[in-house]
Amino acid sequence: MEGATVLVVMQQGAAETEVQAVVAAVEARGLKAHAIPGSERTAIGVTGNRGAVEASAFESLPGVLEVIRVTHAYKLVSREAKAEDTVVDVGGVKVGGNRLVVVAGPCAVESLEQTLAVAEGVKAAGGHLLRGGAYKPRTSPYSFQGLGEEGLKILAQAREKTGLPVVTEAVDLESLDLVEEYADAIQIGARNMQNFSLLRRAGRARKPVLLKRGMSATLEEFLMSAEYILSEGNYQVILCERGVRTFSDFSRNTLDLAVVPAVKRLSHLPILVDPSHGTGRREKVRPLSRAAVAVGADGLLVEVHNDPDRALSDGPQSITPEMFASLIGELSQIAPVLGREL
Ligand code: PEP
Ligand code: MN
Repeated sequence: MEGATVLVVMQQGAAETEVQAVVAAVEARGLKAHAIPGSERTAIGVTGNRGAVEASAFESLPGVLEVIRVTHAYKLVSREAKAEDTVVDVGGVKVGGNRLVVVAGPCAVESLEQTLAVAEGVKAAGGHLLRGGAYKPRTSPYSFQGLGEEGLKILAQAREKTGLPVVTEAVDLESLDLVEEYADAIQIGARNMQNFSLLRRAGRARKPVLLKRGMSATLEEFLMSAEYILSEGNYQVILCERGVRTFSDFSRNTLDLAVVPAVKRLSHLPILVDPSHGTGRREKVRPLSRAAVAVGADGLLVEVHNDPDRALSDGPQSITPEMFASLIGELSQIAPVLGREL
């Protein structure tokens, strides 16, 4: 199979020198080695091959338990590569652990006053991460495009004030450089899910990446996009379901909650659900948030605005800080039923 590769699984307690010897043997064949440490054992993913990888070359090396052929198109994101769940650290906040994580904030950073008002509301309600776009991918070129670097500076000020780490979107290579500098995590939006040069660049970033599902992406395409990021060496990836386009006409998108258990089965990466873009309507955020937690999401991404009716972007789907506080209160009661904390 073209591109099929192998995973070299080390014995439990294999020495670091043995791991390094496998890495060297992989590299000596002109291939790329990705050592993926797990709590039980280390696995080494092999990529960069054109034809089949010769498993026997690695089987007899000291410390090697077995060599598994990876048959999925995606390799490093697969459960085969890493059995246990990945926990991503965003500025000290753990995403993917037992505790649910709520990312909240305005669609767009509009001003310092607006961002601080929302950030303080999010913080007071118990939100964990602040979001807000400084670069907005808008359908119309005449719509508000975001404040750019000034917006990133505002987010950094809001982080300083509230202590909330910041997640914000990069829309191209140029903005990614700046987002990497200012933010705690880099968001890649639905419209850029298959912007492969941007994904590769995000894979070389020193910050975690929040990757949103494309609006018509299959599960395999979604995971392959994450694979681009991991293949460049950045294993800190958080997935986010934000709704897909269907014939259904009562909501902006159709929130595909069934993708959550599907991702959990195939991949070790954490997945959040975005009920705001997923529905497009403020009153649907609460019921779909409940459902997202029930279905096993690792957290939520919610748009919150202090004056939603005057928001420059996505007002109809933004909830107020008061509604957000009430939502968090409700979710903190639902979470324990599912064996999770909030
Ligand atoms: C956003 O998070 O504001 C956004 C633009 O989302 P998406 O890429 O999912 O449309
Ligand atoms: Mn938005």
